[in-house]
Amino acid sequence: MSVHISRHVDDVLDNLSTRKDVTILAGGTDLLVEINFGRIRPSNIVAIDRVDELKDHSRNGHIRMGALVTYTRMLETDVGSPALQEAARTIGSPQIRNAATIGGNLGTCSPAGDTLPVLAALEATVVLRSKGGERRVAFGDFMTGPKKSVRRPDELIVAAEWEDAGEAQTYMFAATRNAMAISISGLALVVDRARRRVGVGLGSCGPTIIRATDAERFAAGLFDETGWDRPARPSDAAAREFGRLAAGAAKPIDDVRGTVAYRRHVLAVMGARALARVAVVP
Ligand SMILES: Cc1cc2nc3c(=O)[nH]c(=O)nc-3n(C[C@H](O)[C@H](O)[C@H](O)COP(=O)(O)OP(=O)(O)OC[C@H]3O[C@@H](n4cnc5c(N)ncnc54)[C@H](O)[C@@H]3O)c2cc1C
Repeated sequence: MSVHISRHVDDVLDNLSTRKDVTILAGGTDLLVEINFGRIRPSNIVAIDRVDELKDHSRNGHIRMGALVTYTRMLETDVGSPALQEAARTIGSPQIRNAATIGGNLGTCSPAGDTLPVLAALEATVVLRSKGGERRVAFGDFMTGPKKSVRRPDELIVAAEWEDAGEAQTYMFAATRNAMAISISGLALVVDRARRRVGVGLGSCGPTIIRATDAERFAAGLFDETGWDRPARPSDAAAREFGRLAAGAAKPIDDVRGTVAYRRHVLAVMGARALARVAVVP
């Protein structure tokens, strides 16, 4: 196994295009587990953690988060998404959050990846670059199955981008404990008051991250009635209905972490709580 340390995006792209069986190493918190368990044995590793161009974060109405932004950095910076910060806070331990990156969460593309429901709800774009140029893929088209995406082997994830959706957003997850536990189900809710749009992303309850479109339409209807800009607590019945619709979109399976019934139940509870929380954001 050879390890090449890159310092520039162009050098990473050269390596991805010219070498065979190349794997990118960012924070290593997923990759090293795979290697240590003997699940993969890449011939060539390209370490990108010293590529400063991938550490940028900018917010000016439009948010661009470089692939190497770590969860610790997300918590220390005004990243422009409270829901993403809530997701970052739930991930791993301080040691993991210091090393692990958003690009790595996208690279692994697990349905349990905690940032991914948020990126779905934000309608984020994944920016990919290869020697052939850059392409921008809507997050909804990026993930194709458990740990599968449309990223080609010669492509580097350079950033995630989204339009600033304001403060009315949240991420919740259920797990056996609050830290160092893989999510049993996760739910992100974004209410973009300026664009009059609701996004709901569900994690760990299907082969990909799922958008709960019926729940989105229902919530948009509520805000049409109460006014998008005015904080207004939804009735308990409306919050419950929103949760029911969110849970209805899930395609969960029974596995070691939870049953279908439990996953649907917690999604309904989280959905109701998320709407009640977000609707009253000033
Ligand atoms: C103890 C522990 C706890 C964890 N807890 C959580 C948790 O609560 N929630 C959660 O979502 N995850 C969790 N994880 C998983 C992991 O930390 C995250 O998925 C993290 O975001 C991975 O980022 P990384 O930089 O370490 O990626 P790496 O391990 O370096 O890479 C992961 C994969 O993505 C690819 N990759 C990385 N960067 C790029 C890029 N820029 N372009 C293309 N491909 C790329 C790599 O080739 C590899 O296949 C945990 C892991 C551990 C070990």
